[in-house]
Amino acid sequence: MTLLAKRSIIKEDKSNIITLGAIAKEEKKKDPSVINATIGMYYSEDGKLVTYDSVNKALNALTDDEKYAYASTPGSKDLHEALKRWVFREYYDEFMKNTFVSVMATPGGSGAISNTFSNYLNENDKALLPSYMWGNYKQFAYENYASFDTYELFDGDKLNLNDIKNKMELHKKTQGRVLLVINDPCQNPTGYTMTNEEWKELIDIINDISADGTPVILLHDMAYIDYDYRGFEATRNNLRLYQKLNKNVLVVLAFSGSKTLALYGVRIGAQIAISTNKENVDDFARANKFSSRAKWSNTTNLGANLIAKVILDDQRRAKFEEELDFARNILVTRAKTFIEEANKVGLKTLPFKCGFFVTIPCDNPDEVYKKLVERKIHIIPMGNVLRVTISSISINDCKKLPMVIKEAMKWH
Ligand code: PLP
Repeated sequence: MTLLAKRSIIKEDKSNIITLGAIAKEEKKKDPSVINATIGMYYSEDGKLVTYDSVNKALNALTDDEKYAYASTPGSKDLHEALKRWVFREYYDEFMKNTFVSVMATPGGSGAISNTFSNYLNENDKALLPSYMWGNYKQFAYENYASFDTYELFDGDKLNLNDIKNKMELHKKTQGRVLLVINDPCQNPTGYTMTNEEWKELIDIINDISADGTPVILLHDMAYIDYDYRGFEATRNNLRLYQKLNKNVLVVLAFSGSKTLALYGVRIGAQIAISTNKENVDDFARANKFSSRAKWSNTTNLGANLIAKVILDDQRRAKFEEELDFARNILVTRAKTFIEEANKVGLKTLPFKCGFFVTIPCDNPDEVYKKLVERKIHIIPMGNVLRVTISSISINDCKKLPMVIKEAMKWH
């Protein structure tokens, strides 16, 4: 007999990303020629975890208090200001004038997603998730007494806005509220990135569905926002559309310090709530502070102060942006190399624009995974696809991989 409570009996982390990532890391330690294309972290061309100098300098300047004292649960004023400045950029004043905004510090984007599921889904309500997704969403839903439905991510090589609309209408009917999760840009695992036109259409759909008072919560998982090939301007220009949403809508941005500042293990991120209705944002601050206190009490003070110190200091921030530009350009070259080579050898990928991952449709991913391991290549088999992490491999590896994967897919 198990001692677990009823709901916990079925709990099992089925994600193979961490496990297969650890195997790949071990193999690479023994043999540096191993290609580790598993875990979503950014590595340099010579195989080292990338850290940003500007962030390291800020770390060295932190006092003991700034590093080790307890942080406040929602995070400091400086952290909030830094995140608003970073995320809204040239539209900061516009946002402050036209919307209400509230920030809640969380342990990574993960904490932001978990809190949002806790507070905007009733028991057994469903979150609306993309058909290809970062699998953790499902666990966040279950842990917060909810479940999920999926919308078809693609219609050909475009976003399937029709299916998003249909599923939102269905949820409106069945549960009287909608919690839609959009992971953009650089969607994990496909690398799909929405156009400004698609964002505009999505905003219209959300306004239509919520026009009669139906609450719509848009959870915008923007973990990879600063690695979009189009740069800061295009991504912020999309966010700007949130000022047009009606009063029944709340946007929650899930910000990840792991990806933007390469602070993966420091566990710092945030929920950034935006609404044209003050009450939505006040309620957000109250309930999410409660949940944070109940789940993790507060985030690392070190992570929160690092973000504030890098972003609120003009010189450090300028240097950090330069470093990010450099990292992004390398990632873009890796992606271009991989896709060009894939096209050359006839390896099909799901619609890709940019980001840490490329995804390949595959009928027998587990078998292909094993074949590739024999060739010292580690990728992630998931569902009916193979996920290749291009953020962790070199441009040369990106050139080599498509042909080897294509061959491995033929071998059964
Ligand atoms: N969202 C997506 C799509 C991710 O891939 C990840 C991490 O891999 C996260 C959110 C959250 O990362 P973290 O909790 O480290 O910020």
